[in-house]
Amino acid sequence: MQWNPCKYLTVGFNNLIKLEDKVNNIKKKHVMEGIMSKVYDVVIIGAGPAGLSAGLYAARAKMSTLVLEKSKAGGQIVTTDEVANYPGSIPDATGPSLTARMVEQCDEFGVERKKEAVTNVEVEGDIKVITTEAGTYEAKSIIVATGATPRKMGVPGEKEFTGKGVSYCATCDADFFTDFEVFVIGGGDTAVEEAIFLTKFARKVTIVHRRDEFRAAKSIVEKAMKNDKIEVIWNTVVEEIKGDGIVESIVFKNRETGEVTEHHAHEDDGTFGTFVFVGYLPNTDVFKGKIELDPTGYVITDENMKTNVEGVFGAGDVRVKSLRQVVTATADGAIASVQAEKYIEEKFH
Ligand code: NAP
Repeated sequence: MQWNPCKYLTVGFNNLIKLEDKVNNIKKKHVMEGIMSKVYDVVIIGAGPAGLSAGLYAARAKMSTLVLEKSKAGGQIVTTDEVANYPGSIPDATGPSLTARMVEQCDEFGVERKKEAVTNVEVEGDIKVITTEAGTYEAKSIIVATGATPRKMGVPGEKEFTGKGVSYCATCDADFFTDFEVFVIGGGDTAVEEAIFLTKFARKVTIVHRRDEFRAAKSIVEKAMKNDKIEVIWNTVVEEIKGDGIVESIVFKNRETGEVTEHHAHEDDGTFGTFVFVGYLPNTDVFKGKIELDPTGYVITDENMKTNVEGVFGAGDVRVKSLRQVVTATADGAIASVQAEKYIEEKFH
């Protein structure tokens, strides 16, 4: 008998079809048994303080609630070693411990949580469709609580020493540097404003800016320049942050002369602070063209956390607001859930 390669190809092809059928049947079974058949009252995207607070309030109001989070719960606070400015937090509360309790509260009230990254949302209809890398969910309302990420300098040591001398939040960490020296990296409104704030704690604040003029508003700059504790290093970028467990030195490069210098912590201090304020990036890529964002990508809401799309709410750092803190994020989450509940009551009952 002659060897016929086509026959083997056909057999392989048929097996592939069988496999596809099997996968489709499993998918159908999943649809029948689970997620696709269920329309949640609310799907909350993001499990930082805003999302977890929204989850708690929604579940306590007996709404069927799903929280989707692409990585670890907690958002930005998981990188904070101490949360001293959240009213009522126990002494030595850390970002992770506060997050753990928020998660526990959600679980106690029956919030469903899944670790899945959202890849698409369809928000036009009464029933919203949320697609993740693992499945599709339907909901009567959505709360967008995806937060914002501080832009990183991207230099060696920055990641390693985050929470050990490198910080992205003066309100959270300034106190740790009382009577120490600190550097502020950046030249925008945040950098200059936070530098002024830091002078209440640090004995000296040096702003390091990559150009020879600030991007920050004149009024803010004038105020900073009048402050005796503030110095500025112009045309300079950070090359590296070094240390052994905590920050001990920082390497600068002058962009005009190319000169590289290393600043070491004073012997008596052993360390210093480096506050990085080089902008923020709102996590709103999947919402572009779906809900109204400001020119920098933040979600625009009214005071009831309503976006321009009915049934879609924004909460926490992801929205346009004046103070991005755990306390304001949790408040936003609570308001968003109560408003979602009202919306569902009016729309669907
Ligand atoms: P921003 O305005 O984007 O400024 C970022 C600063 O970081 C700029 O000076 C930029 O330098 C610098 N930078 C960026 N990447 C860098 C890098 N890799 N290394 C070193 N420096 C780098 O960000 P922001 O200050 O956080 O402000 C964000 C928005 O909020 C702005 O619209 C701001 O006006 C607003 N805001 C307003 C207030 C207020 O009105 N009171 C307060 C805070 C923030 P270049 O200047 O060279 O680009």
